[in-house]
Amino acid sequence: AAKASGSQLMVYTPELDERADATARLGADLRHSLDDGDFRVVYQPIVDLASGRIRACEALVRWHHPVRGLVSPADFVPVAEDNGLIVELGEFVMRTACWKFAGWRREYGPDALGYISVNVSARQLSEPGFPEVVAGILDECGLTPGELLVEVTETALFGGGLAVHAVETLHRAGVRIALDDFGTGHSSLGLLRTVPVDVLKVDKSFVDEITEGGGRAVIVDALIHVSKGLGLRAVAEGVETAEQAEYLRELGYEYAQGYFFGRPVPELDLGGAVPDDQRG
Ligand code: C2E
Ligand code: CA
Ligand code: CA
Ligand code: CA
Repeated sequence: AAKASGSQLMVYTPELDERADATARLGADLRHSLDDGDFRVVYQPIVDLASGRIRACEALVRWHHPVRGLVSPADFVPVAEDNGLIVELGEFVMRTACWKFAGWRREYGPDALGYISVNVSARQLSEPGFPEVVAGILDECGLTPGELLVEVTETALFGGGLAVHAVETLHRAGVRIALDDFGTGHSSLGLLRTVPVDVLKVDKSFVDEITEGGGRAVIVDALIHVSKGLGLRAVAEGVETAEQAEYLRELGYEYAQGYFFGRPVPELDLGGAVPDDQRG
């Protein structure tokens, strides 16, 4: 069956209908799960490559679907972005993560962790009042703006406008900004001139090339120079082997994140950060 939609002729197949149904069902389930509290936040350590110590962590959302079990954010975040529920879900993640960070800071002292990293989507950034929501959450938890790092993708900023404006407002308030999946977008370097950025998260695909050999680690090498030249911090993502970690350290990377150091977990064990006899 074919249907005209504007000037475009769209061809509908049963498979496409089924996929649209599945997406609509997922969207409706998201609504119920937000009300029922089926979302959790997990935290992946970000370590200092020189000492191996945990310095920060990234909050990642998890959906425990009542029927399907654990659903990947790669599958539901795009759906939540489309139907707008990412605004509510994202605020839940931000609040949960900031409270968790404040608790760790109380338990382990102010030097145990430098910051908490939270992913924010284009839709959230474009929501009027988003910077005020963030300021309210920081205030509730007693965090300083510098203890929060907001991770945005290049594509979220590509359209300019409200999203870029929100990033500027947050940055002016002292919240730090990371460009996520750096190097995978269309205008990575151009964005650095127009958007205030503190941290580059160098995408896993470039880290993977380290172990593939054949001199292909050219981009991780180039990006550490870009980042140092601009006075930014680079965080290498998706580090899975000791070899990758060592290579990045030799290149001059300070911070890294990946399964080699730790998977995302509900509770970080920061016990090593404080000697036993000084713990409360
Ligand atoms: P991302 O922000 O690039 O997050 C990193 C992803 O890589 C996470 O997947 C993490 O679990 C995974 N990862 C970390 N280290 C390794 C590694 O060594 N090897 C491999 N293979 N993977 C590693 P996750 O948690 O499934 O999240 C996928 C994406 O979903 C995230 O990519 C982010 O774009 C989005 N996402 C997750 N949580 C949120 C959230 O709270 N809000 C928004 N807007 N998006 C989120
Ligand atoms: Ca991220
Ligand atoms: Ca990333
Ligand atoms: Ca990614």
